[in-house]
Amino acid sequence: MVHKLIIIGSGPAGYTAALYAGRANLRPLLIDGGVGRGQEMQGAGGQLMLTTEVENYPGFEHGIQGPDLMTAMRKQALRFNVDLVEDLATRVDFSERPFKVWVEDDLYRARTVIVATGASAKWIGIPEEKPVWEGGLGGAGISACATCDGFFYRDKEVAVVGGGDTAMEEAIYLTNHASKVTVIHRRDTLRASKIMQERALKNPKIAFVWDTAVVRVHDPEAKKLSGLTLRNLKTDEVSEMAVQGLFVAIGHRPNTDLFHGQLEMDPNGYLKTTHDVRTSRYAVFAAGDVQDHEYRQAVTAAGSGCMAAIQAERLLEAEGDTDILETPTDW
Ligand code: NAP
Repeated sequence: MVHKLIIIGSGPAGYTAALYAGRANLRPLLIDGGVGRGQEMQGAGGQLMLTTEVENYPGFEHGIQGPDLMTAMRKQALRFNVDLVEDLATRVDFSERPFKVWVEDDLYRARTVIVATGASAKWIGIPEEKPVWEGGLGGAGISACATCDGFFYRDKEVAVVGGGDTAMEEAIYLTNHASKVTVIHRRDTLRASKIMQERALKNPKIAFVWDTAVVRVHDPEAKKLSGLTLRNLKTDEVSEMAVQGLFVAIGHRPNTDLFHGQLEMDPNGYLKTTHDVRTSRYAVFAAGDVQDHEYRQAVTAAGSGCMAAIQAERLLEAEGDTDILETPTDW
């Protein structure tokens, strides 16, 4: 069977693309990223499954919890003839149409594809970030998701690395659980938006350590986080900080490993697009954070998911019901 459209990924971009394509009778196949398999994608629902309050998604006067928003988007999309694979795409071949997408050994084929695999949290790059079963403290003291793990730090002291909106959001959220939150930032000014900076700076439970990097985390041998070794990047002074948890909030990288050699990317790995959502390969579209390093908002991701679905629908409509699938290089 050749599907008209396969959508890979299920954040705001993927669900919105599925909603529009479903309503346009394309009967899209949505490969939703699954839950808990692989490090590449976040699992179904994407990054908003790992956030708390979303105040800037229009339509929710009093804000909405990220996971609630994604659950609603999923249910809304699945009302409209969307076939669902609750798993992770593991390989693709876009060299000719119909395109091929594998989920382990299962092969799916489609005339058009929308890539909406989003982005994932970045790590500092110190050995202790490895998962606990590989000798590190990842998942056992070091986390990239305060919403997921904050609960474990009730009345404990924790640190957050980063100076952007994510770091401020994580720090503020952690004050609901931890007795003290210290933000460790590598510069002396924050990158976060003014409103988030103000909220964090005036929160009495949040302290700031400037111009500083985390160089070691203790103590992987004990399988328990007991403190950090810090280095002041201006003075080179080394110091110790006693905390029980470390939250890394230094931004994200696009989930594009699957597409190397298939689709053109910029130097940071984001998919290159023209006409908003067209990749370098005819009939393959990209929507959301996987192709957007500038806005990276749920609402812009949803908007580009809509654009990709409409463009896919128009392409299929123009082609008509034919087995001859063209692949012009210019589109
Ligand atoms: P970001 O804006 O790229 O900020 C990343 C922060 O981490 C920066 O302060 C950066 O330092 C620091 N950093 C990067 N690599 C580092 C490293 N190896 N070691 C130590 N520190 C490092 O990422 P983000 O905070 O995830 O935000 C991404 C986008 O999402 C932004 O557009 C943001 O506005 C948006 N967002 C919005 C909200 C909200 O509105 N509620 C919430 C979350 C995210 P430098 O400053 O020195 O570069």
